[in-house]
Amino acid sequence: MAMEKQSDKLKSVFLPFLSTSHIIPLVDMARLFALHGVDVTIVTTKHNSTIFQNSIDLDSTRGRPIRTHIVEFPASKVGLPVGVESFNVNTPREMTPKIYMGLAILQPQIERLFEDLHADFIVTDMFYPWSVDVAAKLGIPRIMFHGASYLARSAAHSVEQYAPHLKVESDTDTFVIPDLPDRLEMSRLQLPDWLRSPNQYTELMKVIKESEKRSYGSLFNSFYELESDYYDHYKRVIGTKSWGIGPVSLWANQDASDKAARGYAKGEKEGKEEEEGWLKWLNSKPDGSVLYVSFGSMNKFPYSQLVEIAHALEDSGHCFIWVVRKNDGEGGVFLEEFEKRVRESERGYLIWGWAPQLLILENPAIGGLVSHCGWNTVVESVNAGLPMVTWPLFAEHFFNEKLVVDVLGIGVPVGAKEWRNWNEFGSEVVKREEIRKAIALLMGGGEEDAAMRGRAKALSGAAKRAIQPGGSSYNNMVELIQELMSLKLSKFQP
Ligand code: UDP
Repeated sequence: MAMEKQSDKLKSVFLPFLSTSHIIPLVDMARLFALHGVDVTIVTTKHNSTIFQNSIDLDSTRGRPIRTHIVEFPASKVGLPVGVESFNVNTPREMTPKIYMGLAILQPQIERLFEDLHADFIVTDMFYPWSVDVAAKLGIPRIMFHGASYLARSAAHSVEQYAPHLKVESDTDTFVIPDLPDRLEMSRLQLPDWLRSPNQYTELMKVIKESEKRSYGSLFNSFYELESDYYDHYKRVIGTKSWGIGPVSLWANQDASDKAARGYAKGEKEGKEEEEGWLKWLNSKPDGSVLYVSFGSMNKFPYSQLVEIAHALEDSGHCFIWVVRKNDGEGGVFLEEFEKRVRESERGYLIWGWAPQLLILENPAIGGLVSHCGWNTVVESVNAGLPMVTWPLFAEHFFNEKLVVDVLGIGVPVGAKEWRNWNEFGSEVVKREEIRKAIALLMGGGEEDAAMRGRAKALSGAAKRAIQPGGSSYNNMVELIQELMSLKLSKFQP
């Protein structure tokens, strides 16, 4: 009897990595499992929990079985100031190894938690390869969360396998990425450094891939219709199960309260004033007339690049919302004057720091993006049916650009040539004329533009269908939960 009781609910533990753009989609996924009746505990540190606790509180009041379990980050043990426990735009570079050290100290405690919380399965970020061994010890499935696209992971795998970048003469010559469903070309300079030549990260990625192969499967914030050829290709070459259950932002954040809460620290954003400011401004603009310019949660540009962007936006003749981050001591006066000028002319609205991106993208006044091709943003803009100017910077952005421009045909490249690390400026400054030209193509209303918009709208429809009963993501979710339940029940068989 007791056994029956124990077996009737599926219990899970979700462990996000300590960076905003890995936390946001994995927490959305955790919330989706809870929406489907799975008991969910999200394990994280205090500071990182503030990014999403608003959403968990909302779900709890809706009666969903979800909660956060806080583990204390050992800041003093690793010599970090209290509160520095995530990899984000403001994390000083020299502190990042200490955050990894803190995570290593936490590991045994988290391992015990999986057991103490009686998890039937765990969903852990790709950056926790050790969790596959813990799961094996406990006899439960580990599902790995990937923060990227199927295309990006397939392309990286191909470069690792075939090293096409070593067969061209210069860093700027292009090569074809072998064995992919489409003919995709890029240059050595556009590859992440760890793929260009081996470094510590290359080793880590090997360990991650190994752990993926030993995991029960992987979860992606993607949906079948968005990159079906790559979805099939990836499963074939890696040889594991994988489920696309996206767009998770659309599925998990159905109400305006969810969308507004997303990514804001609890208590930080009673910033209604600011919110009403941008909303009022956007609502005064004609449909499809405004460009949303944002480079994600991790990026800072040097002053010289901010100047080029500002001029390009002003010269473009289009209205824009620009999410911008100041660099300490640099560009303050220039940007203040710029902001004043564009506010007066009603041409532009600057949001400092963090923007409620989901709410902005769904506003009918938005007509397109200038984006760094962060995967979450790509999926969110597809969901909103918007084309974009692609401006890849770091991580797997250059691969995502290939999907947006070459495969889906919903992007205009700004012409970025050089990959950089997320916490470096790099040497490339894209000139205002290049930016202005790309914006003109995106927002110009020409034939190409209309075709691109048509494709973006069609994808938006597909995204919305994917999460409905009978849709691909919906079916993946239901099937995965059923599978996990059967696995659990099989343990209780005599
Ligand atoms: N985001 C947001 N407001 C911001 C910046 C980012 O809501 O001002 C959200 C965005 O909606 C997305 C995530 O943060 O879900 C950023 O992830 P992405 O993969 O696009 O880029 P990254 O931050 O990894 O560069």
